[in-house]
Amino acid sequence: MTTTSAPDQRIRILVVEDEESFVDALNIGLTREGFDVTIARDGQEGLSLFQAKTFDLVLLDLMLPKVSGLDVCRSIRATSDLPIIIVSAKGEEVDMVLMLEIGADDYVTKPYRLRELVARIRAVLRRREGHTAAPESEEVLIHSSLRLDVDARRCYVGEAEVKLRKKEFALLQLLMENPGRVLTREVLIDRVWGNDYVGDTKTLDVHIKRLRSLIEEDPKAPAYITTVRGVGYRLESTK
Ligand code: CA
Repeated sequence: MTTTSAPDQRIRILVVEDEESFVDALNIGLTREGFDVTIARDGQEGLSLFQAKTFDLVLLDLMLPKVSGLDVCRSIRATSDLPIIIVSAKGEEVDMVLMLEIGADDYVTKPYRLRELVARIRAVLRRREGHTAAPESEEVLIHSSLRLDVDARRCYVGEAEVKLRKKEFALLQLLMENPGRVLTREVLIDRVWGNDYVGDTKTLDVHIKRLRSLIEEDPKAPAYITTVRGVGYRLESTK
């Protein structure tokens, strides 16, 4: 078990993994990549460490003794926005949609290459940084003819400015930060409304509908924001 000292700027990763061969490989490999690695060997230990210490990301095996990876993920999500990458074994019945719905940021399947895993870790952290970007970052998101000036809170379709309400803006920003990626209803609700979401499940759809009416050429056949039935919405990466 590693301890973090104050000047240590390394990214702190909690690895919850019970397979000895993976534990060793991850500990050595991720440490060599410059990460600060803490190992938990079952779900219960993982949750105790999560409560006791501060981490930047959790690498979470699904099949774990005592508390399953899914339950660990749910418990962490109940109180925290900490990035979570789920690791599943090859051949394991895995419901990807469920994993994203319970709040996992990404998933990898064993066996994986360390290089691939490190790339996923960095990508998840980068995406998260985008959400909490400081106001002085002068962030402008561009997607086809859509332009979102995050600092100025302005949205343009081509040259024309469209007036978005706060939640519509936040929704579009989230979609534009994840082009081509399905964002589940739960993720969208959680990131845009958080605990403020008091309406029924239609609230999200109403906002998407209004957003489409403002940015789509044909809101009935949306080219930007498409519906992934039963899952969520996606900003189409091609247009
Ligand atoms: Ca396992």
